[in-house]
Amino acid sequence: MKGLSGVINISVPKSAAVETMAHLRTVGKQGLEGVALWAGKHTADSFTVECAIIPRQKAFRSEHGLLYTVGSEELHQINVWLYENRMTLVAQIHSHPGAAYHSDTDDLYPIVTTVGALSLVVPDFASAPFELDNCAVYRLFSGRGWVELSATEIKRLIRLEV
Ligand SMILES: [Zn+2]
Repeated sequence: MKGLSGVINISVPKSAAVETMAHLRTVGKQGLEGVALWAGKHTADSFTVECAIIPRQKAFRSEHGLLYTVGSEELHQINVWLYENRMTLVAQIHSHPGAAYHSDTDDLYPIVTTVGALSLVVPDFASAPFELDNCAVYRLFSGRGWVELSATEIKRLIRLEV
């Protein structure tokens, strides 16, 4: 399968953002981080998100901070579902208790590992309404790893459908 490096437009339906935020907020109220995935279909340069996937996940509070895990069996099930529905993951979205940034753990253990895919970090346990401006957005580049996008790059790349 081709990667997503050529994708220059990603459209996200409001329903996917709403579903994602509802999950992040629910776990956030328990003081925990959550994660969601965006799946859809793409051409060489455009990706259309069709749905949010909330994977079965475990969230922990440890002496090193918060973390979440998604088991390998669940990831396998998701990959089977994606294959059967001819969809690809374009982004993972997870929440932080405070500031939005990619931690070392986020760099090392992403769920989405396709070159050109995105990782969004939502601050403050997703307590505010979803705004791309509030998120830290990273894109996976071949040989460079996860690189944070500027506000201008984010605006150019991602369109939230109303
Ligand atoms: Zn994180």
